[in-house]
Amino acid sequence: MTDAANWDRGPGPDAMFATFLAAGEFRIQHCGACGRHVFYPRVACSHCGSVELRWVAASGRGVVHAVSVVQRREDKGGPYNVVLVDLDEGPRMMSRVDGLAHDAVRIGLPVRARVGTGVNGEPCVVFDAAADSAGARQ
Ligand SMILES: [Zn+2]
Repeated sequence: MTDAANWDRGPGPDAMFATFLAAGEFRIQHCGACGRHVFYPRVACSHCGSVELRWVAASGRGVVHAVSVVQRREDKGGPYNVVLVDLDEGPRMMSRVDGLAHDAVRIGLPVRARVGTGVNGEPCVVFDAAADSAGARQ
């Protein structure tokens, strides 16, 4: 049985993504028809429309494409960043960068994904500055 044969059965793509996250895995979809990666989770490829989508482990590598800082009272945790990250596989996703001052997160920063915790305690993909973020990466 392939994923493609069961695209209309069982848990939907959002539920599958959440299940992987709960197991500590960051997976994205790969299209067997056009060879491109897909995120956000979908039933059909956003590039070619095929339902031959397969879940694969994401490399976790990416680069910050855009960043904004959300102001929040200090007693609520202080300001935090919201980023768009271009994954090495191609898709762009919204997330946050942890471990840096909110104003130290810059466009072009290389980042690495891990499964962290969302605002409601749910598992979610967050990013840390990559070890090579000192500028070695093009
Ligand atoms: Zn495709």
